[in-house]
Amino acid sequence: MSTISYATVPVLERFLLNGRRAFVTGASRGIGRAIGLALAEAGADVALAARDEPRLTELAAEIEALGRRAVVVPLDLGDLEAVGPAIDAAADALGGLDILVNNAGVTYRGGFGIDDPAEFDRMFDVNLGAVLFGCQAARPHLAAAGAGVIVNIGSIAGTKGTGLYGASKQGVHALTRGFSREYANDGIRVVALAPGQVFTDMGARVRANPDEMNTLLHHTAQARVADPSEIAAAVVYLASPAADFITGTTIAIDGGRDFFARR
Ligand code: NAP
Repeated sequence: MSTISYATVPVLERFLLNGRRAFVTGASRGIGRAIGLALAEAGADVALAARDEPRLTELAAEIEALGRRAVVVPLDLGDLEAVGPAIDAAADALGGLDILVNNAGVTYRGGFGIDDPAEFDRMFDVNLGAVLFGCQAARPHLAAAGAGVIVNIGSIAGTKGTGLYGASKQGVHALTRGFSREYANDGIRVVALAPGQVFTDMGARVRANPDEMNTLLHHTAQARVADPSEIAAAVVYLASPAADFITGTTIAIDGGRDFFARR
């Protein structure tokens, strides 16, 4: 049996990410943008991946103004063969990698019915395939770093929801559990977050539909949606030594969403 003693480390110091190097997918907007910024505020240098290069460049400038390094990684995660080389190149540029955040994701209209196989492939490639290949590519870098962390952004749709989007996110939660066991001997933790509704472009369609929005708020104890920075704060925690005994699990961050309506 081995334990780590943090008895002499002040608690707030355990949340700091000074000197860590992170790779964040879907960093051009929404939750991923907030994660990139929050990791940098906590002390990390960050590689920012997505397709929209101008937005990544804007965020990189904000991060560099904080005194951290930022590397822009133009990347289409629908091209699974591009994932590994992008992570390797970012690790080279940053001098290593301690944190991978698989955040990028796409949704679609509808429940189980997708009649276009290309749309099915696109969603499962970005939501699940890119997580799989990202974890595999990051593993040697995280192992070399000594205390690597992978944070996967799943969804409440993967724990309590249904449909093909939910299936892709349930896959993310399952990979999280599986990789946590496989990678533990390399000192790597693997954790997932399952957000409820967050105020980003992805949720705009729901927010624009008063009936859907009323139902959602009625089934959320706090009767509100999350700000992206609330998800980012949880990522900072999970990526930090403060969360050193957390691995393999999916943590809900959903304001108390349930099948039951609030009173
Ligand atoms: P968003 O505002 O739509 O942003 C999605 C991000 O993913 C963008 O940065 C986008 O960048 C990137 N992305 C999409 N397709 C990509 C591709 N083919 N290659 C590379 N990057 C791609 O969504 P969000 O709300 O921030 O969602 C972030 C994550 O949280 C997703 O995994 C989502 O499923 C999950 N989530 C969201 C909510 C919510 O209510 N918003 C709830 C639960 C879980 P580019 O377009 O520049 O490529």
